[in-house]
Amino acid sequence: MADRVGIGTDVHPLEAGRPCWVAGLLWEGADGCAGHSDGDVAVHAVCDALLSAAGLGDLGSVFGTDRPEMSGASGASMLAEVLRRLDGWAIANVSVQVIGNTPRLGPRREEAQQTLSAALGGAPVSVSATTTDGLGLTGRGEGRAAIATALLARL
Ligand code: MG
Repeated sequence: MADRVGIGTDVHPLEAGRPCWVAGLLWEGADGCAGHSDGDVAVHAVCDALLSAAGLGDLGSVFGTDRPEMSGASGASMLAEVLRRLDGWAIANVSVQVIGNTPRLGPRREEAQQTLSAALGGAPVSVSATTTDGLGLTGRGEGRAAIATALLARL
């Protein structure tokens, strides 16, 4: 069977004073995202991309994002659960781009990539970031977004 590609996106509003989790890392000095889990848009987009590639639905259908046990769920735990469901698939690679004014990912890009890769059993993960030049909800600092793709290969 052919390899399969998947796509995932996520957007959350910023919440002043909430811990900022992005790409599996805690970012001091930046506001986190409101949301039922830890609000890590990069992790959520990656989970959706992996589930999409495997034809397993999406975060909402798999985790039920309003379930009590998902309250404050860490990105690592969500990635581990998605990985557990990828029976019969190997992750060829994952790429995720964070869209927003904060945090500045560049200085910790390697750490973010290694953290997400470790949570996915060593699969290659690329992390990038961009702003929207002051435009839209991310540019106005109202929210943070991420888009991800994943490629799966049949074992
Ligand atoms: Mg989300």
